[in-house]
Amino acid sequence: MTPEEKEFLFYAAMGYDYLRNVKKLSGNTQEDLLKQLFPTLAYADFQQKIANIQRLAHKHKDSFGGKEAFCRWYIDQYDKQNGCCAYCGVSEAACRHFFETQNARHDTGSKRPTRGHSLELERKLPNQCYSPENCVLICYVCNNAKSDFIAEEDFRETVADGIKKFWKIQQAKAAK
Ligand SMILES: [Zn+2]
Repeated sequence: MTPEEKEFLFYAAMGYDYLRNVKKLSGNTQEDLLKQLFPTLAYADFQQKIANIQRLAHKHKDSFGGKEAFCRWYIDQYDKQNGCCAYCGVSEAACRHFFETQNARHDTGSKRPTRGHSLELERKLPNQCYSPENCVLICYVCNNAKSDFIAEEDFRETVADGIKKFWKIQQAKAAK
């Protein structure tokens, strides 16, 4: 992400009231306000990401020292990981593509799968709390496989290699 994109995401995740009260902007919608700060970036391109950060921030803000601290942490961490799973290395985009296409053998009925679109928050040491030091972002497949009793190091040395292989096979299939 460029520094501008990171700032955009931060302000978008903080929301309308923050832009009005802290940045002293006026306008009818959050999109209007963001356009004033970042005229070259399109809100629609970030919508899913913004919703995901806001959902996670709502849930975890207290253990990260508030919404602002959470949003900063998330965006920096996402950037540090290049938008890829910390364990198996799949990119968020590839993971989303998988879950959005028929490659995903997911029993979803008429609805689209609700998970798999975004990287999820993971505690490296599951017996310790959610915190900036103890958290990374991982894909849905790793999160699903990593039970709370497996520590990061053990997971990396065992299951993560299998999941890497899984993604390699899926990508080969998709390329056919
Ligand atoms: Zn993964």
